[in-house]
Amino acid sequence: MRKAPVNKIIPFSVVDGIGNRTSIFLQGCNIHCGYCHNPETQRMCTHCGKCVEDCPVQALYIEEGKVCWDAIKCVQCDHCIAVCPYFASPKIRFMDAAEVFEEVEKGIPFIRGITVSGGECMLYPEFLTELFKMAKEHGLTCFADSNGTVDFSEYPSLLECCDGVMLDVKSWQEDVYQALTGGLNQTVKKNLRLLAELGKLEELRIVCLPGQVDAKEAIEGIRETIPDQVGAVKLKLIMFRNFGVKGRFAELESPSREYMEELKQCALAAGFQKIIIT
Ligand code: SF4
Ligand code: SF4
Repeated sequence: MRKAPVNKIIPFSVVDGIGNRTSIFLQGCNIHCGYCHNPETQRMCTHCGKCVEDCPVQALYIEEGKVCWDAIKCVQCDHCIAVCPYFASPKIRFMDAAEVFEEVEKGIPFIRGITVSGGECMLYPEFLTELFKMAKEHGLTCFADSNGTVDFSEYPSLLECCDGVMLDVKSWQEDVYQALTGGLNQTVKKNLRLLAELGKLEELRIVCLPGQVDAKEAIEGIRETIPDQVGAVKLKLIMFRNFGVKGRFAELESPSREYMEELKQCALAAGFQKIIIT
């Protein structure tokens, strides 16, 4: 079984898809969004050791040149994350699907499904497929929360056991997307089309920040790409907040309520019917 770096597992979450779900956050991302509010999930630890001395309870230590984490001693103060200059976390567990599912299983009477997020969960497609297969055998629904930059069409067995993808569209014009994330969005658009055709588009998301994100163009671009599905797909317009943001967007302000309402009107005009502003 493949192991994946697990940042955290939230046993019960009502914000990561429909119903009560267990959310699994994997470590590592292939892009670098300026507004990321989980920046500590972006990169793998370089074992520089900088965070070790900042731990107030000595839950971090160095062994054979690697930073190790003692989960029992840790009081979850997150000082280590705050001081890390590399968008990483020392609190990572490498787990295979069976080990993760062991934790999921404890909540089964109370959950409807699982959602795997990140970082970018599609960096670990084999792990994801194994975990989803186990979850489905127990009657759970399986969602992937993805930035869409990995081509889903290359993983048919994953698509088979994945009930839906929460796709982070981010922006539409290539230069805007690149400035925002450091990556390219052709594959995101390809995935948008594919997932809509397969009926596996659980939700679309745009984090809204005027001047940095072309939200209106993204709404229009989605409409042009999947004109027959816009009425059925959920669109989440997320107001940018600088809480937890590190780096160049940390000082930026949230857009106004009026701007969010303006975007909602654009989405309604484009044919979206299920619009959530959050
Ligand atoms: S979150 Fe845990 S490991 Fe990190 S500094 Fe706090 S106690 Fe130490
Ligand atoms: S978590 Fe960050 S600060 Fe701590 S050892 Fe790893 S790279 Fe260095």
